[in-house]
Order: sequence, then structure tokens, then C-alpha cells
Amino acid sequence: MTGSYSGLGDAGGLGELDDLYEAIILDHYHNPRNTAPVDSPDIDLEVNNPFCGDEFRIQMKVDDDTVSKVGITGMGCAMSQASASLLAELVDGKSTEAVRDSIDILRRLLKGDDLSDDEMAVLGDIEALSGVRKFPVRIKCVLLSWVGLGEALEEHLRREPM
Ligand code: ZN
Repeated sequence: MTGSYSGLGDAGGLGELDDLYEAIILDHYHNPRNTAPVDSPDIDLEVNNPFCGDEFRIQMKVDDDTVSKVGITGMGCAMSQASASLLAELVDGKSTEAVRDSIDILRRLLKGDDLSDDEMAVLGDIEALSGVRKFPVRIKCVLLSWVGLGEALEEHLRREPM
């Protein structure tokens, strides 16, 4: 634990995280990706986790079967914000099928399932979120934006079948 991380107590008690994971989480927490609002989004939802006070608005444009634009804005604890930023980075330009798969892989990662090398490759930096398994109370924070986005995407696909 170095002095540069001394603010973490306020950010959600991440001091136990692996250094590499912690660096990724802090990077996304301090420099969240894709936070600009999206004009006339196809998907627009708000999610919140009242236990922690995490609140996000998720907007996406879906063209054919591809997420062509995403914007996630909001506030929450460090894990929820880093997770939302990693999600926003991941889905940008991805097919709806790939987004669906990634959400499933993250859920299994957080459950502690063994993942294949291919699945780990899909996750990339998102693997850093696995550090939250040491803080079960924060798993909800991490999954909040992912589960909300996944449900909204399914609903969108039901309304506008490919
Ligand atoms: Zn939280």
C-alpha cells in the first residue's frame, strides 16, 4: 500500500485489490469512458442500487445488430463507476450477440467459475472486476450497469427482432 492510494478508503475500500487490478479500476474510476449523452438513443434506461447509492443512466444506439454508440453517465462508488466505464468501453461497436456473451462471462467470473482462455481474452481489462469477489457486498455495484444494460438490450431485441 503506497501513499498514492491513500484516498481509497473513501472510494470503497479497495486496498486489498491486486495492484494491477487496482490500477485498472482507478483508471476507469478517474477517467470514465464514453460518458457523453447519446442523441435519440434506441435504449435509454436508469439503474440504481439503493444499498450503495449507485445511479447510472445508460444510453445506446443499436443499428442492425451492432451497438453503434453508447453513453453511460452517473455516480456511485468506485467499483460501480469503474465497472460502468469498462462496460461502456466494451460494448462500443460490438454486436449485440458479443455484448450478451460478455455479460454472461462477467457474471460467471464474479461467481468464481473457471473460464476458458478464449473467454478471458474476451474480457481483457474487465478481468480486473474479479477483484470484487473479495468484497461480496460490492458485487451488486459491479453488476448494476451490466445487468441493466443486458435486460434493456433483450427488451429492445424483442421489440425489434433482427
Ligand atoms: Zn456501489
